[in-house]
Amino acid sequence: MKKHNFSAGPCVLPQEVLKKASDAVLNFNDLNLSLIEISHRSKDFVEVMDKAQHLVLSLLGLENKGYKALFLQGGASLEFLMVAYNLLEKKAGYIDTGTWSSKAIKEAKNFGEVLILGSSKENGFKNIPTSIEIPDDLDYVHLTSNNTIYGTQFKDFPKTSVPLVCDMSSDIFSRVVDFEQFDLIYAGAQKNMGPAGTTLVVVKEEILGKVSRNIPSMLDYRIHIEKESMYNTPSVFAVYTSMLTLEWLSNLGGIQAIEKINNQKAAALYKELDTNALFIPYADKDSRSKMNVTFTLADDRLTDRFDSMWKHAGINGLHGHRSVGGYRASIYNALEIESVHLLVDLMKELEKQS
Ligand code: PMP
Repeated sequence: MKKHNFSAGPCVLPQEVLKKASDAVLNFNDLNLSLIEISHRSKDFVEVMDKAQHLVLSLLGLENKGYKALFLQGGASLEFLMVAYNLLEKKAGYIDTGTWSSKAIKEAKNFGEVLILGSSKENGFKNIPTSIEIPDDLDYVHLTSNNTIYGTQFKDFPKTSVPLVCDMSSDIFSRVVDFEQFDLIYAGAQKNMGPAGTTLVVVKEEILGKVSRNIPSMLDYRIHIEKESMYNTPSVFAVYTSMLTLEWLSNLGGIQAIEKINNQKAAALYKELDTNALFIPYADKDSRSKMNVTFTLADDRLTDRFDSMWKHAGINGLHGHRSVGGYRASIYNALEIESVHLLVDLMKELEKQS
């Protein structure tokens, strides 16, 4: 039975990527060796790393603009502290839009003063804060572009002269954005880029080297840049599979092409949520995410029936995050629109039956 994977991450990846990745585990580049048993310094793997970095910068439109793409480890969670370690001298501004930005704030406080520029905590993180004022004496401003748990997403980003840092873990490569407005972008791979195990960092080199503290080598972006993400053994399988996913996206027509499909998927699902009285969307309308669609049932007594319907239809991973409850349909790049149509049909069917 075909599965429809709405999981929040790790999540659905394109079938052709999974096929190529599994082939490479058995026999990579006709070497009669596995991708995961050759040296990361071999010509074959160095080519993978180069290509992955190149694809990142070209898809984001950041080639020849002073940016470097790094494939690191430790997840986006390690970036919460690496960003501050490398950039926070005195004071940084953070926008608090939920669990992930709160964790970033907690780590930054180990390194300097943190100014909360806006928060939607009072509103259960149902919206993206507006009218954010940014003082110009900050070392940087940090925000989370898409809030995986609550299903909210920045539409526009604050304009500022201080470096802008963005956790794009759950919406990178999903929509056309002027990526040049950011000085540092980071994202765990396991949503739109590949499997868990590597973290993408795209950083404008000129913002580095300005803090006075000593930075341990593994946490120093400059060292990773100098060593081209090979200071230590990179997570070879995750980097290779990310490269395949980036190649898939590039062949599809890049971010512009996938954005059109993503818009259609989100529109279909939100339309149903707005017209079907049995469902209540979680996020405020103007802050809705096009990657994670969160909702609850108006009547808890329908839970068992709805859960049984979608499980029988081959849907996976629709339960909401434990901190919010309800449901979360993660509709990342690789989720096909037919999966969204299936879910919408089930929602209609539940309404008809009730
Ligand atoms: N930021 C965001 C927006 C996330 O969604 C997640 C994980 N879901 C993280 C950070 C943490 O990522 P990791 O598990 O790779 O540390």
